[in-house]
Amino acid sequence: MRCAWLLALAACGPTYVRSAPKPAWVEATAGFTPGTPTTPTIVQRYRATASRIISAARHDHAAYRLLAELTDTIGARLAGSPQLDKAIDWAARRLRDAGHDVRTEPVMVPHWVRGREEAALVEADGSERELHIIGLGGTVSTPFGGVTARVVVVTSWDDLEARAADVKGAIVLYNVPLPPWDTARGFSGYGEVAPYRSQGPSRAAKLGAVGVLMRSVTATSLSTPHTGAMRYADGVPKIAAAAITTEDAELLARRAAAGPTEVRLRIESQQLPDVPSANVIAELRGRELPDEVVLIGAHIDSWDVGQGAHDDGAGCVMMMQALTTLRTLGLQPRRTIRVVLFTNEENGLRGGRGYAKDHAAEIANTVLALEADSGGFAPVGFGVELADGADPTRSQLTRTRIGAIADLLRPLAPMRVIESHSGADISPLVEAGVPGVGLIVDSATYFDIHHTSADTLDKVDPDDLAAATAAVAVFAYIVADLPGRIDAP
Ligand SMILES: [Zn+2]
Repeated sequence: MRCAWLLALAACGPTYVRSAPKPAWVEATAGFTPGTPTTPTIVQRYRATASRIISAARHDHAAYRLLAELTDTIGARLAGSPQLDKAIDWAARRLRDAGHDVRTEPVMVPHWVRGREEAALVEADGSERELHIIGLGGTVSTPFGGVTARVVVVTSWDDLEARAADVKGAIVLYNVPLPPWDTARGFSGYGEVAPYRSQGPSRAAKLGAVGVLMRSVTATSLSTPHTGAMRYADGVPKIAAAAITTEDAELLARRAAAGPTEVRLRIESQQLPDVPSANVIAELRGRELPDEVVLIGAHIDSWDVGQGAHDDGAGCVMMMQALTTLRTLGLQPRRTIRVVLFTNEENGLRGGRGYAKDHAAEIANTVLALEADSGGFAPVGFGVELADGADPTRSQLTRTRIGAIADLLRPLAPMRVIESHSGADISPLVEAGVPGVGLIVDSATYFDIHHTSADTLDKVDPDDLAAATAAVAVFAYIVADLPGRIDAP
C-alpha cells in the first residue's frame, strides 16, 4: 500500500482513499466520539475568528495576484532550471515584503534537461505520421537518430508479461486509460494508473523492449501529452520513454490490432550533475510556544512545460497568502506557523526529504503538517494521514478536532474529513510521526491539464483560490492556537 502511494507521490497527484459521500455534517463528525468536549469548545472558541479570517481571505484576490506574478513572469520551473532559482528568490522576496521571518535552506537537486523529442507512425511505404509526445521526466535519449520498432500495445502488467516474447526489440505502449473522474467519490484513479508511467520503462526493458510510450494519465484530452516522473530500476537497461496523447494511443492500438505497426521514436535529453536549490521558509512566530511548529507547505518547482499554475503554484500562493492574512489581521497564534515551499517535488522529492533530515531534531515539536498539492480549486475537505502505529486515542482526538475546524469552514463549503494520503513533500515527516493533512479541493478537472503545457493561469478561478486560501488560514491558525496540541488528551 505504502509502496503504491509513494509511487504516486513522486507523480504529484491526489490518491485519496475516499468513503462514499455523506452530508457535510455527518462527514465532519462521523466516527468521532460523541460528547467529546473539545469539538463544541473549538467551534465556540474560534467561530468569530474563523469568520474574520474567511471574510478577509475570501474577499480578496491577493493569492491570485501572486500566482499571476509567478506564472506570467517566471512560468515553468523544473529542478535545475534558472526559472526555479528565480521562483525561489521571488517567493522569499514577496514573503519578506509581507513582513514574515524568511530564510532559505539549501538542498541539492537533480538536473535533467529535455531536448528534441519526436515520434511518428511509420507506414508500410516509409511515409510518416507525426505522433504527439512528451518525454517522461528523467528519460534517457534514444540511440543517435532514434529507434524504429514494432509497437506492442499492452493494457496491464499481466498483459505485458503474457506478451513477453513479442516485447523483445519492440516499443511498448502502455495503453491504460485513466477512468473518468468519479464525482460521487471525488476520486480520480490516478494512483492506480500512474505506476505504469513510473515503473513501465524498466519493466518493459527487462523483457528486451527498446522504447516505451505511455498513454497520458488523463481521462479527457484535446491532444495534449502529459509528462510525469519515472524511475529506472537498478540493473536494467535504461530505455527512452515518452507520454503520448490518448488520441494517438488509441490510434496506435487500433492500428496494432489490425496488423504490424511501426513507430519511430527520437528523444534527446541530458542528465547533468546535481545543482544547488533551496526550500523557502517563512514564519509567523508563536506568542506563547514559538518552538512548537504547525507546518503548512506546497512545492515551488513544477514540470518544465506550461506554467505550473495548478501544480503547484496555487498551493504555494495559498500558503504565502494564508500567512499574510493572519499577520495582517494581527492574529498571532500560540504556536509558530511555518510556511515551507519545498523544492524538487516533481522529479526527486529532495526538498521534502532534505527538510525532514535537517529538521529531525524538531520533529517532536512539529505539531502537524498540512500540504496543498491537488490544484487551486475550491476546498472540499481535509485528508488526514497518521503514521503507522500512531496512538489510537491521540489519532482519534486529531480527527475529531480537525472535524471541528472543518465545521467552522462551512461558510466556505461543506468540508469532508477523511483518511487519505496527505502530501508528497510532507510524507517523510508523516513517516517520522507528524500528523499529516492534505487540503482536498475539487480536483474534477485537475488531471485534464496536470503536467501539461495547458497548466496555465487561465485555468485557475480567483474565487476558488481565495476560498482555498481562507481554508488554509483558518486551519493553520486554529491548530497553532489551540490551548493544547491537536492530539493532546
Ligand atoms: Zn504537485
